[in-house]
Amino acid sequence: MNETGDQSFISQVQNLISQAQSQPSRAENIAQKVAGWLFYIAVIVALIAFVTWMVIEDVPTAVIFTITTLVIACPHALGLAIPLVTARSTSLGASRGLLVKDRQALEIAQDADVMILDKTGTLTTGEFKVLDVELFNNKYNKEEIIALLAGIEGGSSHPIAQSIISFAKQQGISPVSFDSIDVISGAGVEGKAKGHSYQLISQKAYGRNLDMDIPKGATLSVLVENDDAIGAVALGDELKPTSKELIKVLKKNNIEPIMATGDNEKAAQGAAEDLGIEYRSNQSPQDKYELVKTLKEEGKKVIMVGDGVNDAPSLALADVGIAVGAGTQVALDSADVILTQSDPGDIESFIELAHKTTRKMKQNLFWGAGYNIIAIPLAAGILAPIGIKLSPALGAILMSVSTVIVAINAILLSLDPKNNG
Ligand code: ADP
Ligand code: MG
Repeated sequence: MNETGDQSFISQVQNLISQAQSQPSRAENIAQKVAGWLFYIAVIVALIAFVTWMVIEDVPTAVIFTITTLVIACPHALGLAIPLVTARSTSLGASRGLLVKDRQALEIAQDADVMILDKTGTLTTGEFKVLDVELFNNKYNKEEIIALLAGIEGGSSHPIAQSIISFAKQQGISPVSFDSIDVISGAGVEGKAKGHSYQLISQKAYGRNLDMDIPKGATLSVLVENDDAIGAVALGDELKPTSKELIKVLKKNNIEPIMATGDNEKAAQGAAEDLGIEYRSNQSPQDKYELVKTLKEEGKKVIMVGDGVNDAPSLALADVGIAVGAGTQVALDSADVILTQSDPGDIESFIELAHKTTRKMKQNLFWGAGYNIIAIPLAAGILAPIGIKLSPALGAILMSVSTVIVAINAILLSLDPKNNG
């Protein structure tokens, strides 16, 4: 693949993202709907009260009951009920390293069914160690292979590249100087040196079996010269310390974790076994996108977590996309939530925040509107025969009290203190 190929990859990614973003918007704001209903209910009840009281008593009495009903039903608090909770939860989130870009993400995440997690850079540190360098013919010796590996990685910003370059340095091997290097997104790098063409690519991109024992859990990249494998490098990456804890929390919350990675079967299996979760290996950006799509078609609510360009389309398509802060710009752009500290542990805070925010919203809907179930009939004078009447002034006070309750309730939203800070 050359630069044009890479550009078409980027434009393909952009297409997938805009497709996902143009899909029908999520549930309408409930508060707005309730405010609408409240308006009709208040007008109808006020009319009934007016007519009834005009018949029973006189017009001045009827006017008072009508005004009280309308005042009490004024959906003042309702206008604030949800935004106040959102403002509070957004700032709470930020203090825990969660940047919530799409305000609805919290409401949607609260009843998520599946969480798809990228491996490299998301569940693992992305700080690779070279475990093994393999040779496939005797045209080059090990030093020469390492020099080629380090040389071609000079043109890449992938976490693997840095690790290989510093490995060569430690061994005192100077990199071969390349005339040109191009990145093959999601697959590796290719370049030219001394008239030869080389590629350093994933096992999937190489597409053939290799005669070697791949260390358990290792990421493998194959060095190819003229379509033939001349060497391979196996790299080890470690799970982030908080990844295991996250999986526990997900299972406790009935969210099924699935790991999806562009890495080879063995590497994927190693990490997934350590975590005790289901996985998909050798996933291209398109495969990850299709995975989200299929799960959504099964009626599941999907959260996607990722860091790379290869995750961007699925981040955009998922019901909630969470990008790891240290990841690539395109991933950050297509996500609804950003983990600014790149710590999977912060996803726990996100889930807690989602539950608590939704609960507060429901409570505030009650204090902003639900109380009207009692207040409106009262204002209309249903208990007047036994001497319980509200004046318009008292109606106004009750209405303001509702606003104050809604505000205080929102401020009381808080997260459990985090032990590890
Ligand atoms: P993931 O989906 O787990 O984040 P990537 O899409 O970043 O993984 O990479 C997939 C595979 O492509 C890697 O496991 C590796 O084998 C290969 N690869 C990508 N970039 C490079 C590179 N610069 N050097 C060597 N191998 C690479
Ligand atoms: Mg990644």
